[in-house]
Amino acid sequence: MSAHGLHHVTAYSGPAQRNLDFYRRVLGLRLVKKTVNFDDPGTYHLYYGDEAGNPGTILTFFPIEQAARGRLGTGETQETAFTVPRASIAAWMDRFASHGVAFETPVQRFGETVVRFTDPDGMSLALVGIDGLGETTSSEAIRGFHGVTLRLTEACPTAAILTDVLGFTERAREGAFVRLGSDAKLGGLVTIEAVGEAERGRPGAGTVHHIAFRAADDAEQEAMAARLRERHGLSVTEQRDRNYFRSVYFREPGGVLFEIATDIPGFAFDEPADALGEALKLPSGLEAHRARIEAVLPRLD
Ligand code: ZN
Repeated sequence: MSAHGLHHVTAYSGPAQRNLDFYRRVLGLRLVKKTVNFDDPGTYHLYYGDEAGNPGTILTFFPIEQAARGRLGTGETQETAFTVPRASIAAWMDRFASHGVAFETPVQRFGETVVRFTDPDGMSLALVGIDGLGETTSSEAIRGFHGVTLRLTEACPTAAILTDVLGFTERAREGAFVRLGSDAKLGGLVTIEAVGEAERGRPGAGTVHHIAFRAADDAEQEAMAARLRERHGLSVTEQRDRNYFRSVYFREPGGVLFEIATDIPGFAFDEPADALGEALKLPSGLEAHRARIEAVLPRLD
């Protein structure tokens, strides 16, 4: 059985080029896949992650050129946080200042140093400084997800799904926040902020569409789906082939769209690992329409 935790986070954004510039050039993530939204092939689906596109590092976007901004509220992912070395926090704040990125002064949460910031669409992001990370090529580099914060009316029903099905256990409480953790080094944390009855979120640029959790393979995914249906009475979609992973989706009791995605086959499925993200990749069913698709997608460089 693989590690549990987040597989990827998928959000809406505004213009694709602006999104690419921010995540690749400012945050230093790798574009690990340039493809289209399989359900709407006239728009891109951009995947960012670490060098290999490992589960727990993947942030994806559906960029829409004229997108209206969404609004944060309950029943939504409120914040997406990345892990960086604690010693790099000051350098990151300098970097944000020099790129005109809006950020806040660091705060302590659950004993960790957190810097909140926003992307060009106003998406709520954070860097969390962690000690004792292994060396990588760049000492400041984002390693992957720290976790997400969900803003919900109440914590218990969602926490029950996380602990009974998705491999999490409760780790800590702080004020209105309940933190659940899994065995994954990256993307291992989900924090629930329980706020009672409050305004619901509205989808749009700068908001998260869904979050995906890891399953090692089809068998583990099917066992999780069966448990959701049988023990929690939730309806789960049939499996969909997303080329780089296979997915099922369900709406958790707090209103957030959850996905369970397999670790296999991964992003080197249709292009070499050292050339990830360079070419526009299409699933075989859309390959016949490549010319028409390329004609409507905005040019990216
Ligand atoms: Zn997804």
